[in-house]
Amino acid sequence: MYAMTPRCQLPPLRRGPQQPCRAASTAPAPPALSSPSRADPDELRSTWPQRAWTLAGSAAVLSSLSTSASLAAADAGSFAEPLAAALVAYSLADLATGVYHWFVDNYGDASTPFFGAQIAAFQGHHRYPSTITRRDPCNNLHALARAVAFTLPPVDAAATAAGAPAAAHAFAGVFAACVVLSQQFHSWAHENPRRLPAGVEALQAAGVLVSRGQHAAHHRAPYNNNYCIVSGMWNGLLDRHMVFEALEMVVFFRTGVRPRSWGEPDAAWTEDTAGGDSSLHTQ
Ligand SMILES: [Zn+2]
Ligand SMILES: [Zn+2]
Repeated sequence: MYAMTPRCQLPPLRRGPQQPCRAASTAPAPPALSSPSRADPDELRSTWPQRAWTLAGSAAVLSSLSTSASLAAADAGSFAEPLAAALVAYSLADLATGVYHWFVDNYGDASTPFFGAQIAAFQGHHRYPSTITRRDPCNNLHALARAVAFTLPPVDAAATAAGAPAAAHAFAGVFAACVVLSQQFHSWAHENPRRLPAGVEALQAAGVLVSRGQHAAHHRAPYNNNYCIVSGMWNGLLDRHMVFEALEMVVFFRTGVRPRSWGEPDAAWTEDTAGGDSSLHTQ
């Protein structure tokens, strides 16, 4: 049994010329982050395709929730199970965003099939974290909404075909909604409290939404914790038990690929504060 302390057992990966680890000699570490450039302010505005994808994802969520409500109403108004399923979905969505965020922060790059754009956006976010607060809502949410628009309707249709209860549709709809909105919650975690919508600060303080303080820890060295961005309720458990470090060890020993978080923090991890406003980038 190994101790889950990769930083102690393995030398830190320094970017640039280095001796490759024997196990990694055929499977290199993820490419070092490129130094992202500031984007044009227009890139932060919503385009019509982004609005359309956000609308499509929202429609899929509303369809799921309305199916759930119809089934519950037909079942003598029994809403207890759908509500319980919704709470479980809200909790597990936090865990899912943590796993996904960990993956895109640590593995792959912009050329990675299918996930490349999200990987580049999340990794670029570490360079210019406050940019996310300047994005229009559909600009910020459309990528996850598009994923929901493609995946939720077939899931919902399969559940209907299988005669699934109201709780199943409630779970699917709330899980998808929380995943899409996680980028909004993430944005609020970076926002100046004076600019937050009414009530959001209270929800952050109550732990209903991920707090600014908790997420700020994700943007500080060693850049390997607090990945969950819905409520953050899983962050303490995952970090205390070093779950992501354990997954990184499994990936490393099976593939030789090191997560980016094992490397020395470099300019690509740290916020670019040069030039004052660091608000213009891809995430
Ligand atoms: Zn991150
Ligand atoms: Zn962030």
